Amino acid sequence: MAIYELACETGHRFEVIQSFTAPLPDCPDCGAATRKIPSSFALGGTAAVPPPPERMPQTWKGTYRGDRDYVTAMRRTAESRQKLEERYPELAGDRRPVVAHEGRYEAAPLRAGDTVPTPSEAPGHGHGHSRTHGHTHTHGHESKPPKPA
Ligand SMILES: [Zn+2]
Repeated sequence: MAIYELACETGHRFEVIQSFTAPLPDCPDCGAATRKIPSSFALGGTAAVPPPPERMPQTWKGTYRGDRDYVTAMRRTAESRQKLEERYPELAGDRRPVVAHEGRYEAAPLRAGDTVPTPSEAPGHGHGHSRTHGHTHTHGHESKPPKPA
């Protein structure tokens, strides 16, 4: 026996406890056929943080070829993430479009504006260095040694 979160075609959601092989019940609200919601989206009642946009499917194939319930669950997840980001803007993070996310960019997706690292460079190098560069220019003025007598 296990707990499954189900969703019907019109978006009602409910939970059932039954064996893996038992047929899924119809929606108790409208009688429509139901499907299991992928477990990663069964977040009901937990404090789990919905995934950021870059963790969402980026391709048509990634949505199980447009599976309606999967896309509905996905949209709910995206909406809850959006609400969360409205309250906690620091969660929004880097919203630049991802231009590459496969192969060597799988761990760290390449975003628009990023410098493309050369193959000889270690992964993660050359990213964000220019933002902190200015700090090193002022130290000479702040700690002048006293003039020799
Ligand atoms: Zn229903």
